[in-house]
Amino acid sequence: MGTIRVDARGHASPATRSIRPEDMEQEWQRFDAAIGRTEEELKSLKARVEKISGADEAAIFDAHLLFLRDSSVLGKLRKELPRRLQNIEAVYYAVVQNFMEIMRHLDDPYLRSRVADIEDVLHRVLKNMEPAKLPETAEESKEPMLLAAHDLTPSDTADLDTSTVQGFVTEVGSAVSHTAILARSLGLPAVVAVPQLLLEVRVGQPAILDGYNGLLIINPTPETTEYYQALRVRKEKAYQSLVEQRDLPSVTLDGRAIRLAANVEYAHEYSVIKGYGAEGVGLFRSEFFLLGSGNGGMPNEEQQYEHYRKLVESCSPHEVVFRTLDSGGDKLPCEEMTEKENNPFLGWRGIRVSLTRVEMFKDQLRAILRASAHGKAAVMFPMVSGITEVRDTLALVEECKEELRERGQAFDESMRVGIMIEVPSAAVMADVLAPYVDFFSIGTNDLTQYTIAVDRVNFRVASMFRPTHPGVIRLMSQTIQAGIPTAICGEMGGDITLVPLLIGLGATELSMSMHLLPLVRYAVRHLNFKECQKLAQAALHAEDSRTIRNLSRQLAEKRYPDLFAEV
Ligand code: PEP
Ligand code: MG
Repeated sequence: MGTIRVDARGHASPATRSIRPEDMEQEWQRFDAAIGRTEEELKSLKARVEKISGADEAAIFDAHLLFLRDSSVLGKLRKELPRRLQNIEAVYYAVVQNFMEIMRHLDDPYLRSRVADIEDVLHRVLKNMEPAKLPETAEESKEPMLLAAHDLTPSDTADLDTSTVQGFVTEVGSAVSHTAILARSLGLPAVVAVPQLLLEVRVGQPAILDGYNGLLIINPTPETTEYYQALRVRKEKAYQSLVEQRDLPSVTLDGRAIRLAANVEYAHEYSVIKGYGAEGVGLFRSEFFLLGSGNGGMPNEEQQYEHYRKLVESCSPHEVVFRTLDSGGDKLPCEEMTEKENNPFLGWRGIRVSLTRVEMFKDQLRAILRASAHGKAAVMFPMVSGITEVRDTLALVEECKEELRERGQAFDESMRVGIMIEVPSAAVMADVLAPYVDFFSIGTNDLTQYTIAVDRVNFRVASMFRPTHPGVIRLMSQTIQAGIPTAICGEMGGDITLVPLLIGLGATELSMSMHLLPLVRYAVRHLNFKECQKLAQAALHAEDSRTIRNLSRQLAEKRYPDLFAEV
């Protein structure tokens, strides 16, 4: 619950209105105040990033600060304001757009890539100029708010001040897009794919975001507000009591142990996942660390090692499963590409990138191996489609081990190596791949997307995105039947409705956003493995996704009805 704040990145230019010559002084004052506020913001962001990721990562903000006071931009603004006699944000917007256009045509790819940084600064200044958002007192700025945006990039999402932002709503996206995944790791309610959102909402409107039902309620009545206030109190209380059970073993009533681990994207999660009962990390999405710093450069082996080591140590004695770089798809590319891909999800993604950038890949492999000397680590590879990639990758792992031995650097000789099963061909070939690796981890987000040919981030086909499609369930079963430990780490793994099905299919580990762990632990502890197996057998004979979902839901509601109350 909060007041609406609009983030219009890449969407709309600021409103333009005429001013009189005598208004100019006041316009400059507003502009200077916005620049000052932006400077403060960038400095504190820099300090925050420095603390979390080190000085190198934070250096990007120096460039932002320089641009903020760039004399050629300010000079142009001084010239243009009296000429145009428009509100200063409109003139500033035009001047910076012009600047960006020139940069887009430069030959130097590095300078071209800096356009995004300039856009970032422009966006911040404009945001700081919006009168409705200018807090009059420090206290007011702490008011709870709901962010409405066309879309949010992973770094926008990472930047959100969760002490004030209570949730967000976007025009595009889907439940398994990376924006939604990041919302889960921040523990923020989010509603995505709301068409025309920015035309409907106004800054400062009171609103309620109901993530359970996918609702944004603007200007709620007093009755609605009261209902949600009471619901929130009840939900928080129920959730807290589940969190308190974090140390109870995640074992079914008839003794089947299921490891419950966390999916991790952000450094702020490292120290808190244990508090939610995570038995280590089942999926470390390393791309958010490797590509998220915004400075264009990839951390080197040493920097990666230091970072991974911290995570391994904070999870000890539990294991951290590092997934190697999964760039491409809807995530950031790992380098600027000369041509945009027509089908990025079928393109240069995951292990395909790593196997063509061998030195970069080996830096990451050595860093992970070295981190394994400080606790329990494992490595796994994304987007594997067949045996050749597995062989090539394992050969590189061996090469890296040999190099570390030569250097005399320690690593865990028995570090587990696994692959993600998220491409249908890998699932079909699971029995052939199994002898080569120690474990599988099924990425149901991509496995669903590729099996039923439904783009996971396209809201037009979002209703067709069904992880319980019988085609997907049969591939998952086939994978698990190959007989090596198999985890589920896609969004499906944290869905309390589907936990009975996943356990029944034989998954030995579920990995999910840490906030979902207390619910899933409770679910596991109330299930009977044999009953789940029977359900899975029925699911494997079912003809459609709805039947399979309902079968699992029936058992879930029978075994832990309290988790479904009021949702
Ligand atoms: C998946 O595809 O299910 C998965 C866990 O990987 P990602 O969501 O990062 O693509
Ligand atoms: Mg994936």
